[in-house]
Amino acid sequence: MTIKLLRHPHLETEILERNLSSTIDRQRRYALISVHGDPSVQLGKDGAGGQNLYVKSLGLSLAKRGCQVDMFTRRESSDRPDIIEHANGCRTIRLTAGPTKFIHRDELFPYLPEFLEAWLKFQQQTGTTYDLIHSNYWLSGWVALQLRSRLGIPQVHTYHSVGAVKYKAMDIVPKIALSRLGIEWACLEQSDCVVATSLKEKQDLRQLVSQQGQIQVIPCSIDIQHFSQVDKVHARQQLGIPDNQKMILYVGRFDERKGIEVLVRACAQLPSILKDRCQIYLVGGSHKNAVDTVEQQRIRSLVTELDLNNITTFTGSIDQTHLPTYYAAADICVVPSYYEPFGLVAIEAMAARTPLIASKVGGLQETVLDGETGLLVPPRDPEALSNAITRLLSEPQTARSMGISGYERVCSQFGQRAVAEKMHLLYDSLIYKNKFSQSNHYI
Ligand code: UDP
Repeated sequence: MTIKLLRHPHLETEILERNLSSTIDRQRRYALISVHGDPSVQLGKDGAGGQNLYVKSLGLSLAKRGCQVDMFTRRESSDRPDIIEHANGCRTIRLTAGPTKFIHRDELFPYLPEFLEAWLKFQQQTGTTYDLIHSNYWLSGWVALQLRSRLGIPQVHTYHSVGAVKYKAMDIVPKIALSRLGIEWACLEQSDCVVATSLKEKQDLRQLVSQQGQIQVIPCSIDIQHFSQVDKVHARQQLGIPDNQKMILYVGRFDERKGIEVLVRACAQLPSILKDRCQIYLVGGSHKNAVDTVEQQRIRSLVTELDLNNITTFTGSIDQTHLPTYYAAADICVVPSYYEPFGLVAIEAMAARTPLIASKVGGLQETVLDGETGLLVPPRDPEALSNAITRLLSEPQTARSMGISGYERVCSQFGQRAVAEKMHLLYDSLIYKNKFSQSNHYI
């Protein structure tokens, strides 16, 4: 098997996958780096969301396959432990880089050299060596690029958000943009492989970042069983939603690009006969002063201005353990983002058999089959969203069959085991490639 790889170092990974699936090495040690997305914190607040979960579930899934996985992140609080053992072979390791407090990701760049030194020190002191580094988001990408060139370890990179796409949708671009764009370019050209979570992300990278560098599409995944286990009737009883009420659900961080404003405006435009029977649940957001407070305040003011206070519930962030109840209770889940590289919330809702309405942007366009597993609407368009909500709430039969199709789609495409296997195969092929290119040992 390996001989084939050596003779053809430029083979597409899909071909390698077929040849190597039976020889995969399960004893490897991997470093996942997520400087600003601590895999162990509660999601939906303090900027924690999809990236945190992506890293944690990847770490746990690889550990289940027998690998050793260390997930490195920046220490944000002195009352959290330095090391958390999540499962046999999977731990979070917090490194000190800059003040021990929350720092917005746009302000973290100056602390990366300290993070790098802390990583190297940890490695030396513990005598740990890693076979591969997987960086997440451009900040970690910078760290991993340094490690790759110093230590010769192969690097996989996942963007989670592509600056070149994100900035196109923003009126005011942050100061850090130039550094970010340069590092994102280097990640694509110089890492061993970029993992795009959707075909659209791959296209964006090719069009806006570089034609060079290897990209493999591997989607995000979820624990389907966790999100599909709650019964609708029971869930509605638990949340106190009467039978004659329709529940419209948003789950996610409070960030302008999530388009919560559009959802609120869309609900305000619903026909009054329907609006009177609706409950809007906005799940996510910190409870105290935090990075998302401004957006929360803005949405709260809008809800008041549009006279929706009596039908809107701000739940604050809800732990993953309890989220299935919300998805199961909802009549529809809405993902109104302006930009979404993947959108985990979409597949979580689909796993719960809840019909989905999502913006026609980024990875959502691939996750949601328009008219089959949900509806896609143009972003930033309250009227279109209002019409889509009206349609699904007025056609329960259609909504139900979309929910079932969504569940089937999640089972076939986004299960954790299959996705982790793909990632594991990719890692293994890159490690072989790297070893033999380093020793220049072509057979
Ligand atoms: N989430 C959560 N509790 C909340 C709000 C969000 O657990 O109160 C989770 C949600 O279930 C999902 C993640 O945060 O797994 C958000 O990921 P997504 O990819 O949708 O958005 P991102 O945060 O990456 O922009």
